[in-house]
Amino acid sequence: MLRGMLIVTELREVVGTAVVSAASRALDLALPALCAGCGLEGPPLCDECRPDLDVRLWSDPGVALGLPADLPAPLAQLEWCAPFTGVTRRALHQLKYDGDRRLVAPLADSVAHRWATAGAGGDVLVPVPASPDRVRERGFDQAVLLAAAAARRLGLRSEVALERVRETAAQFDLDRSARGTNVAGAFRVTRPDAIQGRWVVLVDDVVTTGATLAACATALLEGGATAVSAITVARER
Ligand SMILES: [Zn+2]
Repeated sequence: MLRGMLIVTELREVVGTAVVSAASRALDLALPALCAGCGLEGPPLCDECRPDLDVRLWSDPGVALGLPADLPAPLAQLEWCAPFTGVTRRALHQLKYDGDRRLVAPLADSVAHRWATAGAGGDVLVPVPASPDRVRERGFDQAVLLAAAAARRLGLRSEVALERVRETAAQFDLDRSARGTNVAGAFRVTRPDAIQGRWVVLVDDVVTTGATLAACATALLEGGATAVSAITVARER
């Protein structure tokens, strides 16, 4: 894996990103399969690491002790599978930055399981769209893949019904109050027919302050959704 990453890094300096993502995919196929959690050879998440994604499976719905308690308005519910640490963090990192799409299945399983045990309702899953630049760079939108796979497991539909209408600064570069301003008005409903009169469940990889989810929820409610909840793979404090 390391050797593969070094080759990719060198390639990136020589050629464009599009060629690199094709090269990364070719390398993924050529490299031995390793667990994203522990690095041992085997499935994308081994049996030892897999349960880390489901640590909250049987927790009460809502916000755990020690975490900021506010539910970002106008969300009806916010759920997540695990804290953004350890195995969960490494798995999301390997999906997003190494393009290891084999991780979509186990991560989406956890989203579906947690929503099935804790979700108060919902008619349609809608992914939080990544910026078009990131999608071009990576060759895929991880939230779209996660929402589609989780929806199949839940027997619900998943609809790409939102788009980013403007670029936003990376949320992790900003303090809490700047994050809300950064993303407010950044999303637009592209498929009103898919969300009107429906209870939407937003799907994303990580939630921090919830400002991005709140901005999406505002756009969806203005676009005619009846309610908007959200579930993410991980929550960062
Ligand atoms: Zn493992």
